[in-house]
Amino acid sequence: MPKALITGITGQDGPYLAEFLLSKGYHVYGLVRRLSTPNLENIHHIRDQVELLSGDLLDQGSITDAISETEPDEVYNLAAQSFVKASWEQPVLTGEFTALGVTRVLEAIRTVNPKIKFYQASSSEMFGKVTESPQKETTRFHPRSPYGVAKVYGHYTTVNYRESYGIFACSGILFNHESPRRGIEFVTRKISNGVARIKLGKQKKLELGSLEPKRDWGFSGDYVEAMWLMLAQDKPDDYVVATGENHSVREFVELAFEAVEIKNWEDFVISNVSHHLRPAEVDYLVGDASKARKVLGWKPKTTFRQLVEMMVKADLELEKRNKT
Ligand code: NDP
Ligand code: GDP
Repeated sequence: MPKALITGITGQDGPYLAEFLLSKGYHVYGLVRRLSTPNLENIHHIRDQVELLSGDLLDQGSITDAISETEPDEVYNLAAQSFVKASWEQPVLTGEFTALGVTRVLEAIRTVNPKIKFYQASSSEMFGKVTESPQKETTRFHPRSPYGVAKVYGHYTTVNYRESYGIFACSGILFNHESPRRGIEFVTRKISNGVARIKLGKQKKLELGSLEPKRDWGFSGDYVEAMWLMLAQDKPDDYVVATGENHSVREFVELAFEAVEIKNWEDFVISNVSHHLRPAEVDYLVGDASKARKVLGWKPKTTFRQLVEMMVKADLELEKRNKT
């Protein structure tokens, strides 16, 4: 039975990846940081099928111990401070988690067993102020946030451990991917939840920043398969994972209101740029995943419309259950 260790198993992607690996017959371990109130909501449904270990990306010893205790074949490093806006508020901590955390996991692999395969969750935020469109593996990076800068560090650390020590280390440059498990502070989930609450009469207005930025939004459940496929190849490499389409925040809003049959969405939405101001913005991202398609045989299954409808429907159910 192959064994995989996932850091960040309690986040959005972690549970989808765990479900996917379980379906492939893996024994799945998850590294979870100690919190006074455990945050296991997203893995509640598979809690009895995965084995959790205590560890923190800030603590080298705990990562090394987790890897030597579990002896995994594969490590998926999904843990990070992943919210771009928060990275200006906590730039040093973001660097510690999102950048140096990668070195800590790779150092643990190097010292415990350099044959362990490694996946790094890199990001389209590394392209930032884009120099060409669509963005592919060879596009120059120009990150626009402490988060993007930290991800560039993580990406090159992954490449460097591959080149220096021959570790099977892959960097997946994933474009934005969403789901009903997305954190509530991200714009897609803020919209799907706000629209559900408006539909149910629990909220009057949805206040957003600019409606103009465009993202290449896919479904998290589709993207985790690409992570696994990268580690299943003969050689380690880096891949862009994206849908190849992009849409504005405005389009997401329109479709979300359409999903609950509200036509006059402008009456409910306040677009206030100062409400969600970032010191530097990423206006436009769209990925070219032709390498992943060709080498991995991967392609997205969920359309943009299906994604929006799935998220709104899930939030309607959640908000109906949640009376407060
Ligand atoms: P989330 O923010 O939902 O999850 C992050 C996870 O990291 C959580 O489980 C969190 O645990 C954990 N974590 C944070 N800090 C630490 C720490 N110090 N030690 C151990 N665990 C920690 O992210 P996603 O699931 O959306 O994304 C997964 C990865 O992919 C991230 O690295 C993200 O930056 C990257 N990525 C995501 C994209 C997206 O669109 N979703 C796009 C491109 C890259 P806790 O529950 O305790 O907070
Ligand atoms: P990001 O692509 O990782 O930064 O994901 P987000 O979901 O946080 O933001 C996507 C885009 O939506 C960015 O350009 C934001 O500036 C923009 N945006 C507009 N209004 C909001 C808002 O109210 N919240 C968030 N999170 N983003 C917003």
